[in-house]
Amino acid sequence: MHPSRRLASLQPGGHTPATRLRTAVNWLNLSTPFGLGVAALGGARTVRGPRGLWLAEGYRPGFPRAGAFTVGSVVLTPGRFADLARSRPDLLAHEERHSRQWCALGLPFLPAYVAATAWSWLRTGHLAYANVFEVRAGLVSGGYRPGPGVSDPAADGRSAPAGGGRAPGAAA
Ligand SMILES: [Zn+2]
Repeated sequence: MHPSRRLASLQPGGHTPATRLRTAVNWLNLSTPFGLGVAALGGARTVRGPRGLWLAEGYRPGFPRAGAFTVGSVVLTPGRFADLARSRPDLLAHEERHSRQWCALGLPFLPAYVAATAWSWLRTGHLAYANVFEVRAGLVSGGYRPGPGVSDPAADGRSAPAGGGRAPGAAA
């Protein structure tokens, strides 16, 4: 994709009926207000992004350790989205899938995600490989590299490099 197209993909707009519904539900179930609060407490600068997402960059606390993570319709990164759009063009789509999961579950997504992470760790020794939320959001687009015997059923459209291990800057 041309760099200007990638940056354009960060601009507000591009709603569909489904993303309008998701945006409204994530306000009403309080996950987006929660995410904006996390962004504010983390010192992030928040702007409106595409399809009802909010983009919060410069998040400082260092936890969770991730290239990006999503709370409600708020996508947070310690870095800059313009850089992520260049280096990891699939990442925003991965995070947007997490915003759908927040839409489905509301605030209980948080303990459910923690439980799924613990389950994945027990099953595979990895925080994401058997984490249903990460698998459904797409392990490859999230920066996770499925190891031997670990499938990546999400529609990432390409196979993962073998070898396993969490890629530097993996998303949550
Ligand atoms: Zn993720």
